[in-house]
Amino acid sequence: MLTVDGQSSIKESYSDLLIDESKSTGGIPSKIFFPENADDLISIILKSSQLKQPLRLIGSHTGTTGGAIPNDNEWAISFTRMYHIESVATNPEGEIILKCEPGVTISTISEFLNDAGNSQYKVRGQELLTPGSHFYPPDPTETTAQLGGTVATNASGARSFRFGATRCSIYALSIITPNAETFTLVRGNIVDPRKGFEIITDQGSKIVFPPFSYRSPQTKNASGYFSKAPMDLIDLFIGSEGTLGIFASITVKLQESINIVAGCTFFKTLESAFLFADFLRKENDVLSIEFFDESSLKFIDAYRERMAKPIPEFPENCTQAILWEFAEKETGSFQDKYEIWESFLNSCDSSFDNTWSGMESTEIEKLKRFRHALPESINAAVSSFKNNCPLIRKIGTDTALPAECFSSVYKEYLRLIKKNSLNHAAFGHLGDCHIHINLLPSNEGELNTALDVYDNMMELTIKNGGTISAEHGIGKLKCKYLEKMYGKAKIGEMRAIKQSIDPQWRLNRGAIFEKF
Ligand SMILES: Cc1cc2nc3c(=O)[nH]c(=O)nc-3n(C[C@H](O)[C@H](O)[C@H](O)COP(=O)(O)OP(=O)(O)OC[C@H]3O[C@@H](n4cnc5c(N)ncnc54)[C@H](O)[C@@H]3O)c2cc1C
Repeated sequence: MLTVDGQSSIKESYSDLLIDESKSTGGIPSKIFFPENADDLISIILKSSQLKQPLRLIGSHTGTTGGAIPNDNEWAISFTRMYHIESVATNPEGEIILKCEPGVTISTISEFLNDAGNSQYKVRGQELLTPGSHFYPPDPTETTAQLGGTVATNASGARSFRFGATRCSIYALSIITPNAETFTLVRGNIVDPRKGFEIITDQGSKIVFPPFSYRSPQTKNASGYFSKAPMDLIDLFIGSEGTLGIFASITVKLQESINIVAGCTFFKTLESAFLFADFLRKENDVLSIEFFDESSLKFIDAYRERMAKPIPEFPENCTQAILWEFAEKETGSFQDKYEIWESFLNSCDSSFDNTWSGMESTEIEKLKRFRHALPESINAAVSSFKNNCPLIRKIGTDTALPAECFSSVYKEYLRLIKKNSLNHAAFGHLGDCHIHINLLPSNEGELNTALDVYDNMMELTIKNGGTISAEHGIGKLKCKYLEKMYGKAKIGEMRAIKQSIDPQWRLNRGAIFEKF
């Protein structure tokens, strides 16, 4: 197993592992380990437990909230060498399941499924698949993310509108505790948080979780530990941001492939785009409703030359766009819908003439690339601003709101941004009322203004029953807002959960909870 020892070697050769896409900075670990299998992982954790050494878990460090950023002198574990897909099988419910090491990336899973049966992969049970027969529903835009990172943050993607976030596709987790004990959770183990519950490890120890009364909001959510009464025990660990245990293996559920038609439709006003989104939400076979507002289209125009792949010019006078996907398999073909959709689009002053369409998988891929190009370019812009002012970091909302107040709160966000003359780019998962507003300060003065505006947006969100993080998690950067969202007493209950399994608070210190 590769182990890199000493802060100076780490700083010199592994500095890329010390930040994530939030562009915020942390400390330098004293060791970085690159385990190649579960035994390596257990041996590191056992040693860390004997030495009471704090640990930092690093996936592909594409996170945007700093959870994977090490503190000074921690031991860091990178999962890049635990990248195997271990087996394909059928579970008792008849679903096809895929067991993976935590460092497998989302793109490796798609490549494997597109190619299953060919000789490149030698995976036990792969004869249950044929090339392209199945897909893994969560589709976070950043496909270099590792499965472990996406389970730890309960990541979601455009199609979560239809298939739910990562948690909905997780069947089993093998977990290592901070003192190197192990246990496996399979979906279906129902517990009642009102009464508390316990886990018996493979080594025979009992981990006792006290009762807790807080509940996760109904909106899409990745803020704090999941709670519902009753709930599946596995859901407590999904979205726990590496603070409750280390995922050593992850088993996901696959779905049979479906034929997809996709399009990107352009609109002249925000109101007409929102009306079309309301229309799409009522269509059973719509998989995703992704939104790009005026600021995003302007941002793409400004950065068009620097984009890795060419992006066509937008239709004239259009300021907003909705990227949608429709599943043909379930109730018939898209042709059956064409006239109804066209007539609705006409009533919104748009049409299929204002739509980039994707009927073939290569065209759909192009539309997805367009979707991905935006956050990627925003992150590149933040990096270039950071060159001029090192304090600059990404300041982006990840809020989801109840549908009934979404439109009014969103307009209030925009009013605040305009009043403070900030540059921004807004895009995201309109189907779930979950939009990312990226504030783009380019100097220290603007940065301070952006932080104040961000504070106001979080207050507005909490006041209206929304969540402060719907998919990126709390990490190290959003702890104070989590406390505002739940209040001190409920945060105390979450801390008691952490204390039950990690009494020395050695795992991912500073993530979810600022103080330990
Ligand atoms: C361009 C771009 C687009 C993005 N789009 C999306 C999107 O559509 N949806 C979305 O949800 N996010 C998105 N993200 C954010 C990011 O990709 C996700 O948060 C992703 O889940 C992080 O995965 P990672 O492997 O990079 O994890 P990291 O950033 O390395 O870590 C994230 C958290 O997981 C923990 N962790 C990692 N491995 C393990 C393990 N084995 N066991 C326990 N804990 C572990 C870490 O300690 C950390 O707390 C995007 C990011 C970028 C840069």
